[in-house]
Amino acid sequence: MGMKSDIQLIKDGKRLDGRKPNELRDITIKAGVLDNADGSCYLEWGGNKVLAGVYGPKQCLPRHLSNPYKAVLNYRYNMAPFSVDDRKRPGPDRRSVEISKISAEALERVVLLEKFPETMVDVYVEILQAEAGTRCAALTAASVALADAGLPMKDMVTAVAAGKIDGTVVLDLNKAEDNFGQADVPMAVLQHSGEIVLLQMDGDLTQKEFHQAATMAIEASKKVYELQKAALKDKYKERGSK
Ligand code: UDP
Repeated sequence: MGMKSDIQLIKDGKRLDGRKPNELRDITIKAGVLDNADGSCYLEWGGNKVLAGVYGPKQCLPRHLSNPYKAVLNYRYNMAPFSVDDRKRPGPDRRSVEISKISAEALERVVLLEKFPETMVDVYVEILQAEAGTRCAALTAASVALADAGLPMKDMVTAVAAGKIDGTVVLDLNKAEDNFGQADVPMAVLQHSGEIVLLQMDGDLTQKEFHQAATMAIEASKKVYELQKAALKDKYKERGSK
């Protein structure tokens, strides 16, 4: 973000990948793709490919981390070494620890953890291929995986980013736009209450631009939510026909 460059990211009102400013990349979501997880989801979002697996609720280990009032939700965002252009050094780093923390906090707002005291729910998201916007793709997939696991939830978490490139507010930045753009604002929205459960900002926006970006992301989250719902419905249709 904010890297100075002469790359022109918008030409004749279109972005380099042909999208209009308020257009999402193509998204496909499939629920229930892993036999050994309690819930799972595979999601492609532009060039991002992510796999989410949920285990639990199960006994909380180590015991001293358990909570007598609710389940502990653990979230691990992990980038595969082959997910990016330059090999990503395996294992956690500052960035993935941060993403995991804020994503867990977003999901804690919707999963009815108080129904499962002393237990834990593990949410693992593997980034198989990254092309910017992976934290949003990961959280969107994790939310489907949690619903697929049958965990009671009061709402769905849907994450979409907006930002600014060449002075224009745009939706869902791709890699070049993330690298050479002026701002990136990942957001996660609860569809029914309208609450924002994750909000970050990299770069600078005026108040007006921020409002525009947030409005764009919230609007787009409705479309992504429909895809999340459709993925869950498809899974149960398939199961019913077996
Ligand atoms: N990226 C990378 N190596 C890293 C971290 C990120 O190549 O160690 C790339 C990857 O394509 C990622 C993008 O940079 O999607 C943007 O990263 P950012 O930290 O903004 O998070 P994201 O937009 O993926 O949520």
